[in-house]
Formats: sequence, C-alpha cells, structure tokens
Amino acid sequence: PVRETVPVNATVPAVGPERAHEIVTRSRCATAKVKVADPGQSLADDIARVEAVRDALGPAGNVRIDVNGLWTVDQALAAIGVLDRAAGGLEYVEQPCATVEELADVRRKVDVPIAADESIRRAADPYRVRDLEAADVAVLKVQPLGGVRACLRIAEDIGLPCVVSSALETSVGMAAGIALAAALPELPYACGLGTVSMFTEDIAASPLLPSGGVLPVLTASPAPERLLADRALQATPERAEFWRKRLADVRAYRGTLR
Ligand SMILES: [Mg+2]
Repeated sequence: PVRETVPVNATVPAVGPERAHEIVTRSRCATAKVKVADPGQSLADDIARVEAVRDALGPAGNVRIDVNGLWTVDQALAAIGVLDRAAGGLEYVEQPCATVEELADVRRKVDVPIAADESIRRAADPYRVRDLEAADVAVLKVQPLGGVRACLRIAEDIGLPCVVSSALETSVGMAAGIALAAALPELPYACGLGTVSMFTEDIAASPLLPSGGVLPVLTASPAPERLLADRALQATPERAEFWRKRLADVRAYRGTLR
C-alpha cells in the first residue's frame, strides 16, 4: 500500500431530495454518487436529487451520477448538460449508455468526463474501453476482474485514472478492493467501497465501515459464529444446498482452505 486511508463516496439511490440530502450529510463523505435515470422517475426527479446532494456537500464536494447504462445517446446528450448545471458541475457521469461504442459517442460530444463501469467486467473489457477512447475514468471491481494483482496490471496498462468500486461484498471481499485502492500509484477519485453498511449483517467481527468519508486500509476475516449464523444457509433447503456446494467448490479450488 502507498496510502493509509481510502476516500469513499456516499451512495444516493433513487430517493427523494430530502432523503438524498440526509444520506449525504450523515455519510460525512466529500463525494456523492447519485443514481439517476431510474425507471419510473423523470429528469425533474433527478434534477431535484442532484441539487439536494450539492446543497448537502457544499461547493467543495464532488457530485457524480450513475446511469447504469439506461440512457440512449440522445437522452444522454439532453440530460448531462442539465444535470451538470443542477449539480453546479459534475465530477463525472458513470456509464451513461449501455455499450462501449455509445460511451465513446457521448464522450466526444460532452465536456463532462465519462466513467465506464458495466462496460468493464471481463479481463479484456478495459482495453476495449481504452482503444475506443470511450471513457475518461475506469471503474475497477476486483472480483469480476480476477483479483487485486490483475486490477493493478489493468490500471497500469490502460493509463486511465481508476476508481475502485465494490460489487457489494462483505468486509472480507471489501478488503480486496481496499487493498487495490491502497496500492494504486494514483487515486484521484473517491472509491465506491463504502457499501458494507448496505447489508443487514456482515460476516467480519470488525466490519470495514468508513468513518468521516474514509476507510482504513485493513484486512478482514470472517468470524466463525457469523458464518454459522449466515441466513443464506438457513433460508431454504435449496439455498442451503446451493451455498454448501459453492463452498465445497471453493475449497476444492483453493485446496488449502479448511
Ligand atoms: Mg456504476
């Protein structure tokens, strides 16, 4: 690691402006990621939420939006300018459209930086994003991309600033994302690693939760009593069987796990 703490963003789902304000204020994060383009909501809802988040962060905070690939290119071009003004300047727009080609198209036509998230899932994806000049920022998730070292190699090869994000892991998985974020030579953006609190329970005795908008660079171990209490194993016989088989597969793969 080259740093002792990792800044994280607050995550604001498609809630009303008052709730959005509250989430950001409580998080004490300097950066907030705001979900927009939720089906069933209007651009006016997104504008109100983004304005509330800016109000909560103050002028020095960073507002980014996440579209999860839901806009067409035309929708993206219409909405990004409006939301950029509502935010008093967006840090970046995450995955405005579904495909890498669409991201590249939008990126050529707007001034707000574009981040690729869903476009980067498999090992070859980041190189395609780079080659098509489809993004200014790469969102890296350790687990789908094959581990911390694989991600460090990708970050070095693609030459784009990287944001490390969780794929919603427990603290044990989160520690891998934190290790990556701590080891990246440059970390210009807050990371999406403050998500353990979204779970009703964690399996670590000391959950990796941010404080004051930053995470300490620590590892986490599963607490045996929390594993035994895992609801997944108790839910239904089918779910229990699924998880027992998965655990057995992982043990067989690793060989060293008991
Ligand atoms: Mg995303």
